[in-house]
Parts: sequence; structure tokens; C-alpha cells
Amino acid sequence: MNEFDKPLFIREIIKTSHDMHIKGWTEANGGNISLRLREEFVKEVSAFEPQSDWTSLNGSVPGLANDYFLVSGTGRFLRNISLFPEKNVGIIQLDDKGENYRILWGYEGGSRPTSELFAHLMTHEVRKKESKGVEHAVIHTHTPNLIALTYHKEYTTAEISYILWAHHVECAVVFPEGVFLLPWMMAGSYEIGRATADAMKVHRMVIWQHHGIFASGRNLDESFGLIHTAEKSAEIFIKANILGGVNSKPDLERLQKIAENFGKKLNPDLVKELNSKT
Ligand SMILES: [Zn+2]
Repeated sequence: MNEFDKPLFIREIIKTSHDMHIKGWTEANGGNISLRLREEFVKEVSAFEPQSDWTSLNGSVPGLANDYFLVSGTGRFLRNISLFPEKNVGIIQLDDKGENYRILWGYEGGSRPTSELFAHLMTHEVRKKESKGVEHAVIHTHTPNLIALTYHKEYTTAEISYILWAHHVECAVVFPEGVFLLPWMMAGSYEIGRATADAMKVHRMVIWQHHGIFASGRNLDESFGLIHTAEKSAEIFIKANILGGVNSKPDLERLQKIAENFGKKLNPDLVKELNSKT
């Protein structure tokens, strides 16, 4: 791959990482991106000469056996992907059991996949199954307004979902299933990856308390768009509070009508929980 012959998925990760940086979500080496490569690209990259031995994932994702991924590098700055994609991202291949990976391209200068690789892969495995193979892109990033909400109060998943639905009504249409709020866990651990992936059976976004957000979508645009919409709502909520407080907002009934207008339905479990408190 040379400068003038970048495949579409490289151009997409350049655009998405740049947009994430412009939004202020990617300080230093914060955030990471992974993309499960589509069939048309697998044909090309599977012919690449392996650049490493097999490395254990220290876990198993059999639902992703023989899949190929574009993954940002550990310690690398997402804002630099546009400058040197070959240093800051790489392509990996999983083995036929989903237990080991090897590098096929990238990570030049001695990098390797993000330290959150296994969390990404567990999420991919769940979302690949739940979406029947439609979802390919996972983004983890540090969105200041959503993070600020987790410092403001110990919200529940239902409460934070309602805040986001209510303060930018687009949210009721974009993610009617709500956003899962995961209490603080150690980043990079198996436990946070497992808990995130388990929550992804229902949700496409998981907020990590005091840290950031994980999102899964069909492509990088959709994952970015989910996060962008939620983050904007958190920003509106915070701005309204700076103005003196929220004195006017849609109730659940109105939000449900907005969702239904687009053929969607708010997560019934969250609606039930919210109604039981009012
Ligand atoms: Zn992080």
C-alpha cells in the first residue's frame, strides 16, 4: 500500500480518527478503533505476508475465527493516523479458533494492536451475532460531556438513557435501546471487556464511568454518529444546567411518540424502570 493507493478502509479510518480528534475526543493516545474487514477486502489482505508470529489473545472469540481487522496501535495517537497510517494502525488476522492473532500489515516502528484489543474483539463477537453480521466498526473514545455526566451523579442506565433521549430528541430515534452505563472497572482488563460485550447484547453504546464510551455500528460513520449524537445531548444537558437548570423537557410519552414516528420503540425495560420511579 502506498500513499497514492490507499484502500477505502484506510481512507475511512483516516477520516474518522481525524473527526474524533477535531471533536476533542482523542487527547494523547486516548481512544482506539477497530474495523472488521469486509469480504471484498479480505481477499486482498489475506494474501499479505504475515509480519509476526501468532500471539495469544489470552482468551477466545470463536465467533470471529478467521476474521481480519484493521486496529489502531497501542500507545499511538489517533490524530496521527492521517499522517502515517502504516505506523499508527495495522491489519491483523485471527486464527481458526479465535484464540491467536498475527500482524499482516502496519504497526511500523514496533507497535502492536491497542491494549483494549480483547475488549474490542469481545464486542465485535457479540455485535456480529446480534446484528447478523451487519455491524463491523467499534470505537472507544473519551467524550468530555458524557464523561462529565458520570462525575455529576451515580446515574443508572435508565436514568442516563432518559437524560440523553430527553435533551436531544434525535437520540430517541438514533439509539432507542438506550445507553448502558458500566460502573468503573480497570481499563484493559478482561472484566471490563466482558462486561462491555455482555451489555452490547442489547445496547450499541456502553459508557465507561469516569472514562469514556464504547460504540458499535455498521461502519465507522455509524459508530461515530452514535457517539456524536449522545455526546451532543450530554452537552445540551450541561449547557441548560449552566443557564440555570432544565425547566422544560419532553416526557417519556412524547419521546416514545417521536421514536414511533420513525418506526422505532424505546427500550421497554428502561421505560418500565423509569415509569416505576415517577
Ligand atoms: Zn480509554
